[in-house]
Amino acid sequence: RVPEAARSERLPSRSAVAGVSEGLATGGEREGRARWSAWRRNGLAGYEDRHDDLPGDLTSRLSPHLHFGTLSPVELVRGATRSGGAGAEAFVRQLCWRDFHHQVLTARPAAASADYRSQHDRWRSERSAAGDITAWKEGRTGYPVVDAAMRQLRHEGWMHNRGRLLTASFLAKTLYVDWRVGARHFLELLVDGDIANNQLNWQWVAGTGTDSRPNRVFNPVTQGKRYDPQGDYVRRWVPELAGLAGAAVHEPWKLRGPERAAYDYPGPLLELSEGLARFKQARGLD
Ligand SMILES: Cc1cc2nc3c(=O)[nH]c(=O)nc-3n(C[C@H](O)[C@H](O)[C@H](O)COP(=O)(O)OP(=O)(O)OC[C@H]3O[C@@H](n4cnc5c(N)ncnc54)[C@H](O)[C@@H]3O)c2cc1C
Repeated sequence: RVPEAARSERLPSRSAVAGVSEGLATGGEREGRARWSAWRRNGLAGYEDRHDDLPGDLTSRLSPHLHFGTLSPVELVRGATRSGGAGAEAFVRQLCWRDFHHQVLTARPAAASADYRSQHDRWRSERSAAGDITAWKEGRTGYPVVDAAMRQLRHEGWMHNRGRLLTASFLAKTLYVDWRVGARHFLELLVDGDIANNQLNWQWVAGTGTDSRPNRVFNPVTQGKRYDPQGDYVRRWVPELAGLAGAAVHEPWKLRGPERAAYDYPGPLLELSEGLARFKQARGLD
């Protein structure tokens, strides 16, 4: 029963709510249904081949609707299965990850904050790595694809899955900062942020979760060149580098002298080899 004291009120307008991301997508059931039917027609068939295309932005973007319940996963699975094909199968597989993480958290509620499978890490903390954490949050690490994704998160309250993977790997493994610091920041900004999928994906990337390769480290330069080969995603979110054509935008440090000075963009926070050596030593892999 609805408690007597519960009253029905109009939802506040977006402008009346403080701190909303500027580029936040519109919510609500009508919007969710419209998005699903348009994407089912135009995006589903190509999903398997193109879900990692960062500039193309071709995934469904239905996660906020699944999070708030304005679309049901059962409805999506039914519709996708009716459409059929490799794209639909790949999409249903991703929906299964969502369920999987909810099931893991139900079985192991402590995994919301404790390592699911400890690697005996002695992470750098919020205090000891304060400068690095701020640079990561603000999109000023000097690694363009990491910075682009972190700025997308701040602007839209959403980030592409490939961006989530490589920014999380950069924080937890390259900077060797406690995954909980990053997970908290994501939860503060993500419109689809939920404990099961956020914390367990963070643990997956940090190598303390269900990943069968806990020590893999994503290289942001290789990842950038692979998933944003022309650099369009970086130029969209890091306007300071808009003058750099093609894949060169992923390695601004290769420019020299006045050419480099023309770009008001920070140098790399650390060498990737330095981060990798620290991580390997911490995990006893050296
Ligand atoms: C560090 C990190 C944190 C994340 N935090 C969240 C979170 O708080 N909430 C959240 O819903 N997803 C989270 N994800 C998973 C994934 O990035 C998003 O679900 C996806 O990017 C949402 O975009 P989409 O709707 O276009 O996805 P699509 O590619 O269109 O996939 C369809 C749906 O499948 C589900 N899905 C896809 N990939 C995953 C995945 N890896 N794990 C669980 N479900 C998945 C989502 O419900 C998604 O809406 C996180 C991933 C990482 C690496």
